[in-house]
Amino acid sequence: MNNFIAENLSRVRTQMEAACQAAGRLPHSVSLLAVSKTWGAEAVRAAHAAGQTAFGENYIQEAVGKIGALRDLPLQWHCIGPIQSNKTRLVAEHFDWVHSVDRLKIAQRLSEQRPPHLPPLQVCIQVNVDGGETKSGISPQELPALAQAVAALPRLQLRGLMTIPESAETDAQMRAVHAQAKALFESLRQQGLPLDTLSMGMSADMAAAIAEGSTMVRVGTAIFGRR
Ligand SMILES: *Cc1c(COP(=O)(O)O)cnc(C)c1O
Repeated sequence: MNNFIAENLSRVRTQMEAACQAAGRLPHSVSLLAVSKTWGAEAVRAAHAAGQTAFGENYIQEAVGKIGALRDLPLQWHCIGPIQSNKTRLVAEHFDWVHSVDRLKIAQRLSEQRPPHLPPLQVCIQVNVDGGETKSGISPQELPALAQAVAALPRLQLRGLMTIPESAETDAQMRAVHAQAKALFESLRQQGLPLDTLSMGMSADMAAAIAEGSTMVRVGTAIFGRR
């Protein structure tokens, strides 16, 4: 397992660098979030041994167990899954980042419940760029007001946006959706919000996302294998 994960990580990093080069971007302008959902603590240990420190989790209860089992390692944990109100305390107490904030009520609870001894929770707002009806994420129309409100919460630090686009038929269509997310990101920056993170791109659309300005790709399958 260790070799498998180390080789996969190395290949993903090479692909990220190639995508940066093709887009005329600096090689280290995009960071890698390894999505370890459904995989055990040993898989995370193997990825850490291969130099990976940032991990993404969708299922909060599962993640809290894993975070506890890996306390001995200096890891950074990102919550990327949907958050129900009754799970905000666990998220506020155990994670470093949350990418999936899409309602003010959830953001307020996270801010209130963030323990005082921890640094502010680093937050991205999940935006539903392509309007998929069943998906979570705030609409682009409602985004500016939510972003301003989240940025004002004392125990959160708003860092940027997260998107999960539907997979498109063609690379050009995929890139068009990513470009819309990038435009929303830039318009919030123009409104004075000091954002630096566009969490966009997964195993299948990593290169397209990097071409359109992603600063963090979230990759699971290409590192750990099929779930
Ligand atoms: C599972 C998941 C990923 C990783 O997807 P892969 O296709 O396995 O790379 C990224 N982001 C979110 C929000 C996910 O739920």
